[in-house]
Amino acid sequence: MPRSDGYTSFVGTGFGKKLATTLGLPQPVPLRRYAPGRPLVDGPVLVGGHGGTPALAALREGLTAAGASLVDQVPDGTRLGGVVVDLTAAETPADLESLRATLAPALKRLGRCARVVVVGRDPGRAGSVAQRAARRALEGITRSVGKELRSGATANLVLVADGSEAAALGTVLFLLSARSAYVDGQVLRVGEGEAPAAPADADRPLAGKVAVVTGAARGIGADIARTLHRDGATVVCVDVPAAGGALAAVANEVGGTALQLDVTAADAGARIAEHARTRHGGLDLVVHNAGITRDKLLANTDADRWDSVLRVNLLSILSMNEALLAKDGLRQGGRVVLVSSIAGIAGNRGQSNYAASKAGVIGLVDGYAADRGLRRRGITVNAVAPGFIETEMTARIPLATRELGRRLNSLAQGGLPVDVAETIAFFAADGQAAVSGNVVRVCGQSLLGA
Ligand code: NAD
Repeated sequence: MPRSDGYTSFVGTGFGKKLATTLGLPQPVPLRRYAPGRPLVDGPVLVGGHGGTPALAALREGLTAAGASLVDQVPDGTRLGGVVVDLTAAETPADLESLRATLAPALKRLGRCARVVVVGRDPGRAGSVAQRAARRALEGITRSVGKELRSGATANLVLVADGSEAAALGTVLFLLSARSAYVDGQVLRVGEGEAPAAPADADRPLAGKVAVVTGAARGIGADIARTLHRDGATVVCVDVPAAGGALAAVANEVGGTALQLDVTAADAGARIAEHARTRHGGLDLVVHNAGITRDKLLANTDADRWDSVLRVNLLSILSMNEALLAKDGLRQGGRVVLVSSIAGIAGNRGQSNYAASKAGVIGLVDGYAADRGLRRRGITVNAVAPGFIETEMTARIPLATRELGRRLNSLAQGGLPVDVAETIAFFAADGQAAVSGNVVRVCGQSLLGA
């Protein structure tokens, strides 16, 4: 827990908890976060669903192989670590009863930071109107459950393409694990794909990969570099020359290399590709994280404020990708992850330039993910949209606004930079070849744009 969030520490004390209960105040708990070697979940996982489907069989097998202990009924005297409910066979809204029947007793027996994962199918591919309604209903249920859960528990939905049940396992495991501590109320889509081969070393799924992270000198970018390094990648850390000292420190810490450049430079993409090629033999993952804010009401926003934000946050990505996505840029099976923001989904007062850039980033994801040439090369493109993350940027927000931003989400606390980094590392793994075109909010189910 960051030192600045004294409230969470306070409600963790006996007196604080009593006072918060009496006054009906939020009671955030320190979230369970990932460390190599830790068990997937704390407690047994209840697996249920509508009918015995291929998805259910694949899930049972995969979860058992990942070390989870599975149960079919809510156990006496033990708290559940998670609940996975398979609704891929839902044909009509009447079939949703099996979801209620599985979840209702289980929700009363969830442990701290437990997980609810609902598995369904894409409503857009339904065979009837009734089936489409049933599939779409899963979103409403999952998001409501996310808002009802307490004590750091989360609820998310995975939509699986027909026949891709085995490919979806990695996404279900991510959502069950502590890596997804601040991912709540989200819908993740898994497209067509085969069952991925398990990584040689489960604790280092990115071993042998070369990654570049822009804006890596501090904040979220520095933690992305650390997390990718922890997972086995070699990291090229990019930031502006003015941040050279901090950049070198992060690059040294992660045993990677530092590349000082402004991402808006015309040759930025070519220089990154060339650096990765000559220093590390190639490039597998690009994380476009560098970003700036220049906040003002639109009525007071001049062309400079507008232009600088659009150039750094959006146009630079388009321009760099010309070189990075070229045939001699990203290798076969490469990964691109962009950093958007919930402001790009919900809009934000005083941030029309920033919201334009971050919504534009989502447009980039849609465009690149649909690109047949990139798909043929096995390249996936996804984005994270952080909510309130405890960084230098958010520490500067005036106290009252900061407290509001921090508490207005289902987990009643801000996320940490590492939470954003974990989702990026999830997208980056070889196992996630069927996960493309997603925008995952890492926001604790923020009420902004919910
Ligand atoms: P930060 O300001 O702490 O770090 C951003 C980094 O990007 C800095 O090191 C900066 O030097 C670098 N950078 C800026 N312009 C650059 C340029 N032209 N070329 C190269 N590097 C450049 O910000 P942060 O909070 O760590 O945010 C990282 C990303 O996450 C940004 O894209 C931001 O918009 C996004 N985001 C942050 C939050 C949050 O709560 N902190 C929420 C939503 C989205």
